[in-house]
Amino acid sequence: MESAASRLDAVRSNIARACKPARRKPEDVTLIAVSKTHQADAIQPVIDAGQRVFGENRVQEAQGKWPALCEAHPDIALHLIGQLQSNKAEEAVALFDCIHSLDRPSLLTALAKAMDKAGRQVPCFVQVNIGDEAQKGGCPIAELPAFLAEVRATAIPLAGLMCIPPADTEAAPFFAFLAKLAADNGVTGLSMGMSGDYETAVMLGASHVRVGTALFGAR
Ligand SMILES: *Cc1c(COP(=O)(O)O)cnc(C)c1O
Repeated sequence: MESAASRLDAVRSNIARACKPARRKPEDVTLIAVSKTHQADAIQPVIDAGQRVFGENRVQEAQGKWPALCEAHPDIALHLIGQLQSNKAEEAVALFDCIHSLDRPSLLTALAKAMDKAGRQVPCFVQVNIGDEAQKGGCPIAELPAFLAEVRATAIPLAGLMCIPPADTEAAPFFAFLAKLAADNGVTGLSMGMSGDYETAVMLGASHVRVGTALFGAR
Protein backbone atom coordinates (compact mmCIF):
# COMPACT_ATOMS: atom_id res chain seq x y z
CA MET A 1 0.00 0.00 0.00
CA GLU A 2 1.22 3.47 -0.84
CA SER A 3 1.97 5.68 2.13
CA ALA A 4 0.15 8.93 2.84
CA ALA A 5 3.45 10.76 2.42
CA SER A 6 4.07 9.36 -1.05
CA ARG A 7 0.53 10.16 -2.20
CA LEU A 8 0.89 13.68 -0.90
CA ASP A 9 4.26 14.01 -2.65
CA ALA A 10 2.76 12.80 -5.92
CA VAL A 11 -0.14 15.27 -5.78
CA ARG A 12 2.18 18.13 -4.86
CA SER A 13 4.57 17.36 -7.73
CA ASN A 14 1.64 17.10 -10.16
CA ILE A 15 0.53 20.55 -9.03
CA ALA A 16 4.06 21.89 -9.51
CA ARG A 17 4.25 20.35 -13.00
CA ALA A 18 0.88 21.87 -13.97
CA CYS A 19 2.08 25.28 -12.79
CA LYS A 20 4.95 25.36 -15.29
CA PRO A 21 3.10 25.82 -18.62
CA ALA A 22 0.85 28.36 -16.92
CA ARG A 23 3.89 30.22 -15.55
CA ARG A 24 2.45 29.96 -12.06
CA LYS A 25 4.14 29.33 -8.73
CA PRO A 26 3.21 26.14 -6.82
CA GLU A 27 3.01 28.13 -3.60
CA ASP A 28 0.13 30.12 -5.13
CA VAL A 29 -1.98 26.95 -5.23
CA THR A 30 -3.51 25.75 -1.96
CA LEU A 31 -4.02 22.01 -1.79
CA ILE A 32 -7.12 21.15 0.25
CA ALA A 33 -7.00 17.51 1.39
CA VAL A 34 -10.62 16.37 1.33
CA SER A 35 -11.01 13.95 4.23
CA LYS A 36 -14.78 13.39 4.13
CA THR A 37 -15.86 9.86 5.14
CA HIS A 38 -12.35 9.11 6.47
CA GLN A 39 -11.71 8.68 10.16
CA ALA A 40 -8.98 10.20 12.30
CA ASP A 41 -6.70 7.19 11.89
CA ALA A 42 -6.63 7.76 8.12
CA ILE A 43 -6.22 11.53 8.50
CA GLN A 44 -3.38 11.44 11.03
CA PRO A 45 -0.74 10.10 8.58
CA VAL A 46 -1.57 12.93 6.17
CA ILE A 47 -1.13 15.45 8.99
CA ASP A 48 2.13 13.74 9.94
CA ALA A 49 3.29 14.07 6.31
CA GLY A 50 2.95 17.83 6.67
CA GLN A 51 -0.48 18.62 5.20
CA ARG A 52 -2.28 21.37 7.11
CA VAL A 53 -5.30 22.34 4.98
CA PHE A 54 -8.25 19.95 5.02
CA GLY A 55 -11.74 19.93 3.54
CA GLU A 56 -14.98 18.39 4.74
CA ASN A 57 -18.41 18.50 3.13
CA ARG A 58 -20.66 18.04 6.18
CA VAL A 59 -20.73 20.13 9.33
CA GLN A 60 -21.85 17.31 11.60
CA GLU A 61 -19.27 14.82 10.35
CA ALA A 62 -16.50 17.39 10.77
CA GLN A 63 -17.65 18.20 14.32
CA GLY A 64 -17.18 14.54 15.20
CA LYS A 65 -13.55 14.21 14.25
CA TRP A 66 -11.81 17.58 13.84
CA PRO A 67 -11.90 19.36 17.22
CA ALA A 68 -9.49 16.79 18.72
CA LEU A 69 -7.18 16.82 15.68
CA CYS A 70 -7.18 20.63 15.60
CA GLU A 71 -6.39 20.80 19.29
CA ALA A 72 -3.28 18.69 18.69
CA HIS A 73 -2.35 20.74 15.58
CA PRO A 74 -3.55 24.33 16.03
CA ASP A 75 -2.09 25.34 12.64
CA ILE A 76 -4.61 23.22 10.73
CA ALA A 77 -7.08 25.11 8.51
CA LEU A 78 -10.47 23.49 7.89
CA HIS A 79 -12.47 24.28 4.77
CA LEU A 80 -16.17 23.52 4.34
CA ILE A 81 -16.61 22.46 0.72
CA GLY A 82 -20.15 20.99 0.81
CA GLN A 83 -23.57 22.58 0.75
CA LEU A 84 -24.57 24.42 3.90
CA GLN A 85 -28.04 24.83 5.38
CA SER A 86 -28.73 28.23 6.92
CA ASN A 87 -29.63 26.64 10.26
CA LYS A 88 -26.08 25.23 10.47
CA ALA A 89 -24.41 28.61 9.86
CA GLU A 90 -23.40 29.16 13.49
CA GLU A 91 -21.85 25.71 13.81
CA ALA A 92 -20.02 26.14 10.50
CA VAL A 93 -18.63 29.53 11.54
CA ALA A 94 -17.42 28.07 14.84
CA LEU A 95 -15.51 25.18 13.24
CA PHE A 96 -14.36 26.20 9.76
CA ASP A 97 -11.72 28.66 8.58
CA CYS A 98 -13.13 29.01 5.07
CA ILE A 99 -16.48 28.20 3.43
CA HIS A 100 -16.70 27.30 -0.29
CA SER A 101 -20.47 27.00 -0.70
CA LEU A 102 -21.96 30.47 -0.25
CA ASP A 103 -24.57 30.47 -3.01
CA ARG A 104 -27.75 32.30 -2.02
CA PRO A 105 -29.00 35.41 -0.22
CA SER A 106 -30.64 33.51 2.66
CA LEU A 107 -27.36 31.77 3.48
CA LEU A 108 -25.48 35.05 3.16
CA THR A 109 -27.80 36.61 5.75
CA ALA A 110 -27.40 33.62 8.10
CA LEU A 111 -23.60 33.58 7.77
CA ALA A 112 -23.23 37.34 8.24
CA LYS A 113 -25.34 37.13 11.40
CA ALA A 114 -23.42 34.10 12.70
CA MET A 115 -20.06 35.76 12.06
CA ASP A 116 -21.10 38.99 13.78
CA LYS A 117 -22.32 37.01 16.78
CA ALA A 118 -19.10 34.96 16.93
CA GLY A 119 -16.88 38.00 16.34
CA ARG A 120 -15.11 36.00 13.66
CA GLN A 121 -15.18 36.72 9.92
CA VAL A 122 -14.71 33.53 7.90
CA PRO A 123 -13.67 34.00 4.25
CA CYS A 124 -16.21 32.58 1.80
CA PHE A 125 -16.08 31.46 -1.82
CA VAL A 126 -19.22 32.07 -3.83
CA GLN A 127 -20.20 28.78 -5.44
CA VAL A 128 -21.39 29.15 -9.04
CA ASN A 129 -23.71 26.67 -10.75
CA ILE A 130 -21.32 26.59 -13.68
CA GLY A 131 -23.09 23.85 -15.68
CA ASP A 132 -26.56 25.29 -15.09
CA GLU A 133 -27.70 22.03 -13.50
CA ALA A 134 -31.11 22.05 -11.81
CA GLN A 135 -30.11 19.55 -9.10
CA LYS A 136 -26.89 21.30 -8.10
CA GLY A 137 -26.17 24.06 -5.64
CA GLY A 138 -24.48 27.25 -6.70
CA CYS A 139 -25.53 30.73 -7.67
CA PRO A 140 -27.07 30.88 -11.16
CA ILE A 141 -24.65 32.55 -13.57
CA ALA A 142 -27.14 35.27 -14.48
CA GLU A 143 -27.51 36.24 -10.81
CA LEU A 144 -23.79 36.26 -9.99
CA PRO A 145 -23.03 40.01 -10.35
CA ALA A 146 -25.96 40.98 -8.13
CA PHE A 147 -25.12 38.32 -5.54
CA LEU A 148 -21.46 39.36 -5.44
CA ALA A 149 -22.61 42.93 -4.77
CA GLU A 150 -24.66 41.65 -1.84
CA VAL A 151 -21.67 39.73 -0.47
CA ARG A 152 -19.44 42.77 -0.84
CA ALA A 153 -21.93 44.84 1.14
CA THR A 154 -21.26 42.63 4.19
CA ALA A 155 -18.10 42.27 6.29
CA ILE A 156 -17.55 38.72 5.01
CA PRO A 157 -14.18 38.42 3.22
CA LEU A 158 -14.80 37.27 -0.38
CA ALA A 159 -12.29 34.47 -1.04
CA GLY A 160 -13.22 33.90 -4.68
CA LEU A 161 -15.48 31.74 -6.85
CA MET A 162 -15.98 27.98 -6.55
CA CYS A 163 -17.45 25.43 -8.95
CA ILE A 164 -18.16 21.73 -9.37
CA PRO A 165 -18.42 21.04 -13.13
CA PRO A 166 -21.03 18.58 -14.42
CA ALA A 167 -20.00 14.93 -13.98
CA ASP A 168 -18.75 12.85 -16.91
CA THR A 169 -17.84 15.77 -19.16
CA GLU A 170 -14.57 17.54 -19.90
CA ALA A 171 -14.06 19.97 -17.01
CA ALA A 172 -11.66 22.38 -18.73
CA PRO A 173 -14.29 24.58 -20.44
CA PHE A 174 -16.09 25.02 -17.11
CA PHE A 175 -12.86 25.93 -15.30
CA ALA A 176 -12.04 28.46 -18.03
CA PHE A 177 -15.55 29.87 -17.74
CA LEU A 178 -15.26 30.24 -13.95
CA ALA A 179 -11.93 32.03 -14.43
CA LYS A 180 -13.58 34.40 -16.89
CA LEU A 181 -16.49 35.08 -14.53
CA ALA A 182 -13.98 35.86 -11.78
CA ALA A 183 -12.01 38.23 -14.01
CA ASP A 184 -15.19 39.93 -15.25
CA ASN A 185 -16.32 40.49 -11.67
CA GLY A 186 -13.00 41.52 -10.15
CA VAL A 187 -12.64 38.37 -8.03
CA THR A 188 -9.24 36.66 -7.64
CA GLY A 189 -9.57 33.29 -5.85
CA LEU A 190 -10.67 30.19 -7.77
CA SER A 191 -11.66 26.98 -5.95
CA MET A 192 -11.81 24.34 -8.68
CA GLY A 193 -10.37 20.92 -9.48
CA MET A 194 -10.75 17.53 -7.75
CA SER A 195 -8.80 14.26 -7.96
CA GLY A 196 -9.63 13.66 -11.63
CA ASP A 197 -8.90 17.13 -12.93
CA TYR A 198 -6.87 19.22 -10.48
CA GLU A 199 -3.91 19.58 -12.86
CA THR A 200 -6.19 21.00 -15.54
CA ALA A 201 -7.68 23.35 -12.95
CA VAL A 202 -4.20 24.54 -11.92
CA MET A 203 -3.29 25.25 -15.55
CA LEU A 204 -6.47 27.31 -15.82
CA GLY A 205 -5.80 29.36 -12.71
CA ALA A 206 -7.09 27.48 -9.65
CA SER A 207 -5.96 29.05 -6.37
CA HIS A 208 -7.46 26.15 -4.37
CA VAL A 209 -7.80 22.52 -5.48
CA ARG A 210 -9.97 20.09 -3.49
CA VAL A 211 -8.41 16.63 -3.64
CA GLY A 212 -9.80 13.61 -1.79
CA THR A 213 -9.46 10.26 -3.54
CA ALA A 214 -5.92 10.86 -4.87
CA LEU A 215 -4.75 11.40 -1.26
CA PHE A 216 -6.94 9.08 0.81
CA GLY A 217 -7.90 6.38 -1.68
CA ALA A 218 -11.43 5.46 -2.74
CA ARG A 219 -14.33 6.27 -0.44
C1 LIG B 1 -15.63 15.10 -2.31
C2 LIG B 1 -15.38 16.43 -2.91
C3 LIG B 1 -14.15 16.74 -3.50
C4 LIG B 1 -13.01 15.73 -3.63
O1 LIG B 1 -13.32 14.78 -4.60
P1 LIG B 1 -12.25 13.67 -5.06
O2 LIG B 1 -12.71 13.31 -6.42
O3 LIG B 1 -12.31 12.57 -4.10
O4 LIG B 1 -10.92 14.33 -5.10
C5 LIG B 1 -13.97 18.01 -3.99
N1 LIG B 1 -14.93 18.95 -3.92
C6 LIG B 1 -16.14 18.70 -3.35
C7 LIG B 1 -17.15 19.78 -3.28
C8 LIG B 1 -16.40 17.44 -2.83
O5 LIG B 1 -17.59 17.19 -2.27
